Amino acid sequence: MNDQFDVAILGAGFEGGVLASILAYNGAKVLIADAGVHPRFALGESTVRHTFRMMKIMAERFGVPEFREKFSSGEIIHKEVASTFGVKKNFGFVYHREGQHGRPDEATQLVIPPYREGYEAHLFRQDTDAFLTHTAIHHGATVKYRTPITGVDIDKDGVTLRANNETFRARFVADASGGGAVLPRLFQLRDNPPRLNLQTRCLFTHMIDVKPYDDLNLPNGVPQGRRRWYEGTCHHLFDGGWLWVIPFNNRPGSTNPLVSVGLSFDIRKFPKPTDITPDQEWRRFLDRFPSIYEQFKDAKVVRDWVSSDRLQTSVKQTHGERWALMAGGSGAGFLDALFSRGLATSTEVINSLAARLLQALKENDFSPERFDYVAQIHENNLRHNDMLVSASYTAFRDFDLWNAWFRVWALGVGLGDLRLASIYRRYKQSHDDSILPDSEPPMGLFFSNHEGFKQLFYDGVEKMKGVEGGVVPPKEAAAYVFNLIRNAKFNPPGNGLADPNNRYLDPGAPLSTAKTLFWLITNAPPEIRKMSLGVLADLKPKHRAVPAATGV
Ligand SMILES: Cc1cc2nc3c(=O)[nH]c(=O)nc-3n(C[C@H](O)[C@H](O)[C@H](O)COP(=O)(O)OP(=O)(O)OC[C@H]3O[C@@H](n4cnc5c(N)ncnc54)[C@H](O)[C@@H]3O)c2cc1C
Repeated sequence: MNDQFDVAILGAGFEGGVLASILAYNGAKVLIADAGVHPRFALGESTVRHTFRMMKIMAERFGVPEFREKFSSGEIIHKEVASTFGVKKNFGFVYHREGQHGRPDEATQLVIPPYREGYEAHLFRQDTDAFLTHTAIHHGATVKYRTPITGVDIDKDGVTLRANNETFRARFVADASGGGAVLPRLFQLRDNPPRLNLQTRCLFTHMIDVKPYDDLNLPNGVPQGRRRWYEGTCHHLFDGGWLWVIPFNNRPGSTNPLVSVGLSFDIRKFPKPTDITPDQEWRRFLDRFPSIYEQFKDAKVVRDWVSSDRLQTSVKQTHGERWALMAGGSGAGFLDALFSRGLATSTEVINSLAARLLQALKENDFSPERFDYVAQIHENNLRHNDMLVSASYTAFRDFDLWNAWFRVWALGVGLGDLRLASIYRRYKQSHDDSILPDSEPPMGLFFSNHEGFKQLFYDGVEKMKGVEGGVVPPKEAAAYVFNLIRNAKFNPPGNGLADPNNRYLDPGAPLSTAKTLFWLITNAPPEIRKMSLGVLADLKPKHRAVPAATGV
């Protein structure tokens, strides 16, 4: 029996590393047990601003210096963590029809404003996760690799964990084992089937020799977005699914030639084949979409394809006496990779869990009610994300519908980012805990605590359900969603969200910024004005854009 730890964390991934760093830095005796060793592959490679913003908030709240100095923005990690990451200057969505080349006017893009923190990143997870684990070790955590936890017993005084021939004792256990789903399996927590509408599966790998989509010589031409498609996370959309392209080699200075590639299918339209290999399924997919074929015709896989079953999972319970599930992989429930929300959710969960856990350790009181808030975050995230992503798969059947629905997501992300920027700015100045995100009712979407946005979102979702059910024509739903956006008083008009012809949204462009500023001063609802004006100083670019990427 090893000495007693305060907290045992299952998994040395992103979540395990971040939580362990916080707890260890704040004096807890932490054990991380991982079934494998670093470096190892993990998904969750495309960041959104929310993730790094939460890392900054946690740096202020919990003090971990490495979060602030090395892990607080897409730009800073290239210098401080590794040279293997790519840059993400945009979320790109290029539409395809089976058997046809793409059309140059069927694409949408959300440009990520560089502002003060630079662009977002494509994380080569083996390097981020090793860095975070080492940070935890630096602050005093004990890490046991090749230690697959196979048994967990809870008693009134603590937790006993078993792995190989060893036994560990802790006062609390946090499960960050992602797809390993240790506690959901041992405690039989999973819903079967999951209580989620979406039904998707996925094929994924890393490749080399993927061509930048921008440089292809396609018969109809390549859509001309505001940023190169290859400078961001590119989503190739088609009726029934989408393909992610996440290059790590799209930034001057990157030393990593790999590109992450993943194909997601609606199972109801594309059931998992049983008679072909994943590689054959990939080849057949390319044969159906000629423009995508051009991007991948010379590409080679560098690791075997993984072909998943249904991705969605949900659980009956996310915490109990002396235990809690984290967000990741399929632990406390998973939906789909669309919109790259995974790590953002992880940071929200860690922020609220770590604060409550430190308090519980101090008071030696691990009553489950202390963690009810964290359970609400899990639940609301899963439920709202199910609505958002299910409606997106519905939208994939018609470009005009996608062009409309994509804006509901973009509006939530943009305003949600302003909300979090405002929280960060105020918290940095005051360190008043009543400002923190987890002092508000748990959200579940980046801006879903705003009554207006919540209503718009629910109205839009209902209309999309009508399309899915075959009672609302896609064009009618598209017009309806545009009307919702046009009539939303909290939507900054300068961003062009209500104009169907403005398919490439660039909220950080000088003209958009100027119009938004004017609107904030003259016409914005008070809650938006209050939230936004204070952060404008933080939003001005530190410098102009990083030079354009040259591709591979
Ligand atoms: C198809 C797909 C695509 C995704 N794309 C994105 C994206 O673009 N952006 C994003 O933000 N998120 C994305 N996600 C979500 C993201 O992968 C997770 O949120 C993220 O990896 C969570 O990290 P983690 O540390 O919890 O888990 P992981 O990184 O999976 O780490 C879990 C660790 O637990 C260990 N482990 C497993 N079993 C045991 C055991 N029995 N005992 C001890 N240790 C164990 C493993 O060895 C591993 O090191 C995606 C998820 C999927 C499934």
